[in-house]
Amino acid sequence: MAEVTCSFCGRNKKDVELMISGIHAHICDKCITQAYQILQEDKKTKGEEGGLPKFNLIKPKDMKLFLDEYVIGQDIAKKIISVAVYNHYKRLMQPNEEDDDVTIEKSNIIMVGETGTGKTYLARTLARILQVPFCIADATVLTEAGYVGEDVESILTRLLQAADYDVHAAERGIVYIDEIDKIARKSDNPSITRDVSGEGVQQALLKLLEGTSVNVPPQGGRKHPDQKMITVNTENILFICGGAFDGITRAIGNRLNTRPLGFSSEVSDVDHIDHENLLQYITAQDLKSFGLIPELIGRLPVLSHLDPLSETALKEILIKPKNALVKQYKKLFTMEGVEVDFKAGALDFIVEKAMEYKLGARGLRSICEAIINDAMFELPSQEGKKKLIINRAYAEEKFSKSKYRKLKVA
Ligand code: ADP
Repeated sequence: MAEVTCSFCGRNKKDVELMISGIHAHICDKCITQAYQILQEDKKTKGEEGGLPKFNLIKPKDMKLFLDEYVIGQDIAKKIISVAVYNHYKRLMQPNEEDDDVTIEKSNIIMVGETGTGKTYLARTLARILQVPFCIADATVLTEAGYVGEDVESILTRLLQAADYDVHAAERGIVYIDEIDKIARKSDNPSITRDVSGEGVQQALLKLLEGTSVNVPPQGGRKHPDQKMITVNTENILFICGGAFDGITRAIGNRLNTRPLGFSSEVSDVDHIDHENLLQYITAQDLKSFGLIPELIGRLPVLSHLDPLSETALKEILIKPKNALVKQYKKLFTMEGVEVDFKAGALDFIVEKAMEYKLGARGLRSICEAIINDAMFELPSQEGKKKLIINRAYAEEKFSKSKYRKLKVA
C-alpha cells in the first residue's frame, strides 16, 4: 500500500501530528492551520474593502471642535457625546479576540432638552462627521408588534434606505429616536395605571438597542409572509434618543430639595442649585420616575442634557454657524444680484420673537421667512444692482403683516 502523504505539502503521515483524508487527497495539520490563517486574512481584507465601510473617526476633542462649527452652545452635551461616540466607534475597530474577557459595551445615548435646542441637529451633525448613514425615527408612531402603527423594525427600514440598502453601512449607522419621552409609562407604579402602549414600545425597543438580528421589510410597512426580508444586525448601530421630558424639571427640583442631609452629591448645597436650568442635574432616576422602564434606561447608558437657548445663543445661531440662516439668505440674495444687510436691530427682533414663541431655534427660520418673503418675491424681477437693508423697523413691519404673527405659543 502506497505511503500516505499530504497532498498540499507532501509531508509523510509519520512526520505530522494528524492527517485527514478526503476522497482523493490528504491534508496534514500544518496545512490545515495555514489554510485557516489564509481564510481569516482573506475575510479581514474583504471586510475592509467591501463589507465594512470606513467611517471617519476623529478624536473626541476634534469631534467637539467640528460640532462647534455647527451647533451653538451645549458644551457639556457635546463633550459627553463626543466621548461616547468616539468609544462606540473605537469599539467597532476592536478585533474580536476570543480570549479577551473585556468586551466594550455599546454606548447608546439619551439627550434631554427642550424642543429646538439642537438634539436632532447634534445627532445629524455627528453622522456627518463620521460619514455614516443616519435616520430619524419618531417614537410616537411606534407600536408593539400586532397593533396599528409602525413596528419598531420600521426604524431600520429607514436606516437601510439612508444607506442605499448597503447592509454593512447601515449596521454602523446612527439612528436618532425622537420624542422618546412620549412612550413613557404614565405612572411610576405599573400596577396603578398601566399604559400598555408606551411600555410595550419600550419593551420592543430593548432588543433593538442592545443588539440583535432583525428581519427588516426593505420597503417598510407591515410584515407579510411573502415579502423578502433583509437581516440587519443592530449590535453596532448607535442609537441616540431625544426628548423634551416636559415637567421633569419639577421632579428634579423636588429631588434636589428633599435630599436627606448627609448625602453627598454633585449639588450638595441647595443654595448653589441653578434653578433656571434644573435639567443639568438630571439622573437616570429622574428618567425612571418620568416613566421610562429601567431596562430601557440601562440600554441608554450615556445621559446628557441640553441647555435652553438664551437670547445670546439664538442670536449666535442666526449668524455664526457654518450654514447660519443669515449666511444662507445672503447667499440666496447674492444669486439674484441683491446685496442684503441684516442690521443688529432686526436680528434682536427675530430673537425676541423666537423667545416669545418658545420654539427654541426652531422658530428662527419661520420668523426670518416671514420678514424676507416680500423681498424674495419682488427683487428677482427687478433689473440692475439692488441693495436691501433689513433693520428693526423693516422686520417689525413685515412680520406684523405676515401670517406668522399668529404663530401659536407652544
Ligand atoms: P430638537 O432639540 O427639538 O431636536 P433640532 O435639533 O431639530 O431641535 O433644532 C431645530 C433647528 O434649529 C436645527 O435644524 C438647527 O438649524 C437649529 N438649532 C437648534 N439648536 C441649535 C444650536 N444649538 N446651534 C445651532 N443651531 C441650532
